[in-house]
Amino acid sequence: MSSSDSKSNYELRKQLKALMSQAQKNEAKLQKLQNQELQFISANSLPELIDLTLQQYRDAYELDYVSLLLIDHDHEIRHVVEFMSPGLLKLPTLIFADSHAQLENVVISQAATKEKINPIELQKTLFPNFSDKPYLGACTDACRNTLFPSMNSKEASVAILPLIRHNKLIGSLNLASSDTARFVSGTATDLIKRLSSILAVCIENAINNEKLKLLGLTDALTGIHNRRYFMQRLEEEVVRGLRQKLPVSCLFIDIDHFKSFNDVYGHSVGDQVLRYVADIIKKQMRLSDVLARYGGEEFAVLLTNTDTELAQDIAERIRFSIADAILHVESLTEDLNVTVSIGCTTMTKPNSQNITSLGETLLNTADQALYVSKESGRNCISVAKFNELAAAQAAH
Ligand code: GH3
Ligand code: MG
Ligand code: MG
Repeated sequence: MSSSDSKSNYELRKQLKALMSQAQKNEAKLQKLQNQELQFISANSLPELIDLTLQQYRDAYELDYVSLLLIDHDHEIRHVVEFMSPGLLKLPTLIFADSHAQLENVVISQAATKEKINPIELQKTLFPNFSDKPYLGACTDACRNTLFPSMNSKEASVAILPLIRHNKLIGSLNLASSDTARFVSGTATDLIKRLSSILAVCIENAINNEKLKLLGLTDALTGIHNRRYFMQRLEEEVVRGLRQKLPVSCLFIDIDHFKSFNDVYGHSVGDQVLRYVADIIKKQMRLSDVLARYGGEEFAVLLTNTDTELAQDIAERIRFSIADAILHVESLTEDLNVTVSIGCTTMTKPNSQNITSLGETLLNTADQALYVSKESGRNCISVAKFNELAAAQAAH
């Protein structure tokens, strides 16, 4: 073999080695991506999927910032999230956009971060001509304000991957790296495109599942939670109260002489009264409290980490705000005065550790106290000592 032959042989072997090593790297990349896809697919709930996307994906790919933008025309997704996992709404990395125009002319008008953005600039930056092509490149100001609101790094390169379902843009997955050379225009995007199309399916499924769950746990007439949800939460909050040695209070609220609204004005006015009362009570609730329509014209409230004095204050606020307001019904010439009676009790340091029976006692005691309020003339609150029903006293 001549020296030139052996040289070219050597070069060939070197090239082969480089190709093999590249192939191995690609294989490893693909494997990693497939694992990521599998994780997305097997996420059990929307919060889990969001966590996988925003935290775990960011860490696995050593990114500086990952955010998810969801287009949410009628605030429907936000409504579901608010009910099912309100904590998600606090994430700066989960962004909701109010609208987008037609497919060819995508305009994200406003992000839920309440930051005013220039939709035209954003449109130009993100999706110059609507397509399923990701945007890779520098991070403009509009892009930073909207998609990476609390990113530390001053300089960054970003990848914005449109999430598309049934030819509709449903949002975008946004990746940022302080390495300005990481995402540059012209880089192959097949793999991340595949990932984003899988993520789009997973997100749509997860949102639909949350909607279904919500339907099963909410009351169709008033939009607040139903009894089933209340019973689930009752058990959870009793457990938490016991574990953390914190008081849990319960209110039972019943509309006074509700039947007469139905009898005098008709069932649909009765329905309006129910919605009106639910809305007023809801306004008095804190994020951690649980409000449900327990039965016909009866509402139950669970007040976490709330002692009996505070529970009475809250009950009084609810009673007063309903008695003080006047309900105007379109079809009626006269306004309606609605009042409620309330029963209140607090679990502090129970002797028993039986969760189910403690929950039942909390409910029964509040119900007994409500009975006392009715007997005492209505439009008032009564407090019953947990487990000591006889001690119920009417308090106006
Ligand atoms: P009290 O002050 O003692 O609580 O008297 P009340 O009239 O409020 O209570 P009562 O239990 O006699 O009547 C409750 C009525 O609520 C009877 C039922 O027909 C009506 N009701 C239950 N569910 C609904 C509903 O979804 N819509 C309407 N419009 N009425 C309902
Ligand atoms: Mg009633
Ligand atoms: Mg009743």
